[in-house]
Amino acid sequence: MKIIIATQNPHKVEEIREIAKLYGMSGIEFEAIDSSLEFNPDENGQTFEENSFIKAKEANRLTGEYTLADDSGLCVESLDGAPGIHSARYADTAQKRIDKLLDALKNSQNRKAKFVCALTLINPSGEVEFTTRGECLGEIATTQSGTHGFGYDPVFLVDGTSKTMADMAEDEKNKISHRSRAMQKLFDYLKK
Ligand code: IMP
Repeated sequence: MKIIIATQNPHKVEEIREIAKLYGMSGIEFEAIDSSLEFNPDENGQTFEENSFIKAKEANRLTGEYTLADDSGLCVESLDGAPGIHSARYADTAQKRIDKLLDALKNSQNRKAKFVCALTLINPSGEVEFTTRGECLGEIATTQSGTHGFGYDPVFLVDGTSKTMADMAEDEKNKISHRSRAMQKLFDYLKK
């Protein structure tokens, strides 16, 4: 079975392949959308679920194959769920996004947060085959720590550990991350 991942970011495809390996999911080929195709979905949904649907649907329109899209982000309780679906655009650079977040929480006692990942799988006929969501609970640290990962990882303290996501090696993050939890549910579905 081949599944086209609705992204032109090779890092995301590689991460999904690693998670598949971790769960012993052989027999599925994951490929990024061909770089020659103009893949510019208008991500104007109001939820992670809507945006993952928009991306998967556009990828299916372009390829006519099974397509999988994820949409993810960070939701902070005391900021009413922000940055949420705007996580990638919260500020201009990764460092500025972290600085803005730490500044927004500087007087906050409640630092609870979660990473969310919504997945949509569309079949070759263009119908939604499966949707799911994975979450990873934690807190926003007061300072940055760790060198692994990307985005908000250096300030996301994972519940039940004393580590930020950026303190975790790739394998360790892939066992507990929002994306891995959502992928696990997708693999359970595909196995059936
Ligand atoms: P995307 O939908 O996967 O492109 O993610 C949107 C944004 O959410 C990213 O640009 C990051 O800022 C943030 N994000 C999503 N997943 C993670 C993660 O695993 N670690 C850190 N930041 C993440």
